[in-house]
Amino acid sequence: MGMSELENAGKENLRERTLIDLFSAFEGVYGPSFECKYYPCHFSGQDCTFCYCPFYPCLNYDMGGEIKLTSEGKPIWSCMDCWLIHDKKFAEDVIVTLSRFPRQRLVEEDWYFFSSILQELLYGEIFVEKGEGCYNLMEAILYDKDCEEIEDGEILAVRLENFSITSVRRIKRIEDAKNEVLIPLKEKNKYYGIKDGSYVVCDGRSLIRY
Ligand code: SF4
Repeated sequence: MGMSELENAGKENLRERTLIDLFSAFEGVYGPSFECKYYPCHFSGQDCTFCYCPFYPCLNYDMGGEIKLTSEGKPIWSCMDCWLIHDKKFAEDVIVTLSRFPRQRLVEEDWYFFSSILQELLYGEIFVEKGEGCYNLMEAILYDKDCEEIEDGEILAVRLENFSITSVRRIKRIEDAKNEVLIPLKEKNKYYGIKDGSYVVCDGRSLIRY
């Protein structure tokens, strides 16, 4: 889904529509495809089981998403370059994994729950768990990257509320975060972050194709 659709969907409660989409997928009701006015929103032949990604906003650059600013200057996670949820195999795995949980639980669970499910699907393990204080998603994003130590750096602290980004700020130390999600800074195909206590610059992954 592109940015303008996301902005429009935001006005109509994006999370609600995402859950309706997810539960329809459990029933084998597939989302719009050839008849959809946005088809193909990402690539020709894409799977349209999901129109809305249940992991939104995943805050993981590896699939092609990134933080952008809306016309009003509001930070938003843009999935423009992510094809993952439209990959048939991935969509099937999402259905198998999430349909294990009672629907009421999926309605009530927070962003952190969906983030750990996505980590499991992508990496086969959960690197970051919700605990006290910040949620250091850098550990998952940088774990398999080729990184070089650098003298100095900054990282991003993202505040989320009800599956929406409410603020993004640059900070220098992990300890400066306050109940925020920590992700590296991304510039072109480089990720700038903190790994094993040191500032690092890492080669971004060529996009995950499931
Ligand atoms: S997995 Fe892809 S579509 Fe889903 S939130 Fe992340 S970048 Fe967006």
